[in-house]
Amino acid sequence: MQSAAPIDAAPADDTIARRRTFAIISHPDAGKTTLTEKLLLFGGAIQMAGAVKARGEARRAHSDWMKVERERGISVASSVMTFEYGSCVFNLLDTPGHEDFSEDTYRTLTAVDSAVMVIDAAKGIEEQTRKLFEVCRLRDVPIVTFVNKLDRESRDPFDILDEIEQALALDVTPASWPIGMGKAFKGCYDLFRDRLVLLEKGSKGGLPHEGESCSGLDDPKLDALLPVGAADTLREEVEMARGLCPDFSLQAYREGHMTPVFFGSAINTFGVRELLEGLAALAPPPRPQPTADRAVAPDEAKVSGFVFKIQANMDPKHRDRIAFVRLCSGHFKRGMKLTHVRTGKAMVMHNPVLFLAQDREVAEEAHAGDIIGVPNHGNLRIGDALTEGEALRFTGIPAFAPEMLQKARPKDPLKSKHLGKALQQLAEEGVASVFKPMLGADWIVGVVGALQFDVMADRIRTEYDVPVIFEPTPVYAVRWVEGDDPRTVKAFLDANQSAVAEDHDGAPVFMARNAWHLDKAAEEHPKLRFRNTREPA
Ligand code: GDP
Repeated sequence: MQSAAPIDAAPADDTIARRRTFAIISHPDAGKTTLTEKLLLFGGAIQMAGAVKARGEARRAHSDWMKVERERGISVASSVMTFEYGSCVFNLLDTPGHEDFSEDTYRTLTAVDSAVMVIDAAKGIEEQTRKLFEVCRLRDVPIVTFVNKLDRESRDPFDILDEIEQALALDVTPASWPIGMGKAFKGCYDLFRDRLVLLEKGSKGGLPHEGESCSGLDDPKLDALLPVGAADTLREEVEMARGLCPDFSLQAYREGHMTPVFFGSAINTFGVRELLEGLAALAPPPRPQPTADRAVAPDEAKVSGFVFKIQANMDPKHRDRIAFVRLCSGHFKRGMKLTHVRTGKAMVMHNPVLFLAQDREVAEEAHAGDIIGVPNHGNLRIGDALTEGEALRFTGIPAFAPEMLQKARPKDPLKSKHLGKALQQLAEEGVASVFKPMLGADWIVGVVGALQFDVMADRIRTEYDVPVIFEPTPVYAVRWVEGDDPRTVKAFLDANQSAVAEDHDGAPVFMARNAWHLDKAAEEHPKLRFRNTREPA
């Protein structure tokens, strides 16, 4: 294992190389909101830190949906948080968690170049972390791990490293090493920079001390600064960790096969600086983005980007939406005219929302890796490309098979058509997946987080004036059916009409009644693929 910083941070004058666009993945309560606030504190965007907190509280009061509605303004603002630290510009993309966990959460991960995985040191890898990790893995997104809450009684660090490795099939290597835990937590030794960083009592408000530079673990400073015996324990544990873990490899990390692990305590702003510096030094700048024909390099002169998230705007009666666009290349400026590739129409970017937190006024421009919000009336959809003319189709922005399914029908049977239209629009917006079975009059609606059913029912009632009833369905899972030979696909669909539906784009799905039904279909039709993700057409 190397001990010095593996590479230097990007030069400040390189607009693209200094950008880091990332998301935090975690299970609820692991400390994502706290860590976000502290990261923003380092970035100087303190008023935004308040917004994050407001959002956290709103989230907990989710039962009052109208309140959530009012909070949408905040959630647009906190969807992307841009801040500077050292020579880097960080774009932190929010991934909604808790009950508002939705397909958006997954899809945001298609717009980042790397991720930070926050783990509760007492709990290890939890369900939602694992799900989000699997989405990162689809695109080999590099992951830095932050093991949080070392100030509480935690699991043994070796145990945690072992669990990450086993549960996620990912190589792990410590970037720092904790000294004690719980009440006896003293701090960490930064293995990449050879620094001893001690927890300062009562430093919750300000920025903590940078730590003490050491010449290595043998430095007698450690014995002087740590309680009796602690330095030797540290040396022994690090030696053991070095024996057990592979050396840090920038390449393996960047390819998504290895995660460096930092230990800390977000609430004490402890380990946050090391994490940020780790991101500056290790995390990739904007990566080339794949399209159907070629990869788009971030330093190409012409502007291009794709929509990864749509959010309904403040006023529910007007179908104003904000499309979040990840810029993939070029130098974007307010007022510029871009081509909406799917329709071929020109769109003038009159009022893009730009997110540089410190100074909204001068945020007139953006670069590859940045996110812009484009207000529109529903013409922009997930996966759509905006370019300066080239007909690019970005790939790798899939739809995800929902895990919770319900049947939807209008309270008033005469409003069936209206409901269909509302569901279609909400599906295009990415709020939920909607499937129309070949047989029968109902729709099947699928979500990845249970709150989305409430959100949908509320929006369909208030925005479309159609009271809707959600009911249990015998459908256990949906899978998109694909095959190289269209005739094989058609034969399957024809023979299984009662278990087939179309998604909002008309793509066929198989509706399995249970796990056995799904396995059997796959087994009996080896020429077909039953996929749980689908790329937009
Ligand atoms: P999120 O749900 O992942 O956004 O988690 P929060 O940031 O809201 O944190 C969940 C709870 O854990 C809150 O009560 C935090 O105050 C607490 N918390 C966060 N970080 C730490 C930490 O480092 N140590 C301790 N003891 N508690 C923490």
